[in-house]
Amino acid sequence: MDDCIFCKIIKKEIPSDIIYEDEYVLAFKDRNPIAPVHILIIPKKHIAMISDLDEGDEKIAGRLIMTGKKIAQNLAISHKGYKLLFRVGKGGGQEVMHIHLHLIGGARLYEEIRPIS
Ligand code: 5GP
Ligand code: ZN
Repeated sequence: MDDCIFCKIIKKEIPSDIIYEDEYVLAFKDRNPIAPVHILIIPKKHIAMISDLDEGDEKIAGRLIMTGKKIAQNLAISHKGYKLLFRVGKGGGQEVMHIHLHLIGGARLYEEIRPIS
């Protein structure tokens, strides 16, 4: 996708602080971190959002999560707990329309979610 900023990051047309890269995924630091560790893990294949995943994308979807787990281990934040977050679509707060898994950690990340009454 020519006008996708994350595709440009994959092609190294936009600089980023890359943490991990393989055939399927790229992980880089979020430019506006909300915690001491804030990394985005993206598929190299342009897929706009989780709801656009097709049959056959299981390997990509699994690799995103496994990469989040491994980076958390490598950064030694696993024992404290961390957050893996997908926003899905505009209504879900997603701003960049290329799937990205947020790995957020290194701080207390409790948030209270209450049932709607
Ligand atoms: P979303 O709200 O779509 O789930 O999250 C998008 C994230 O991408 C935001 O946390 C934002 O800071 C990050 N971001 C947007 N553009 C860039 C960029 O060009 N470089 C980097 N490193 N992060 C970006
Ligand atoms: Zn893209």
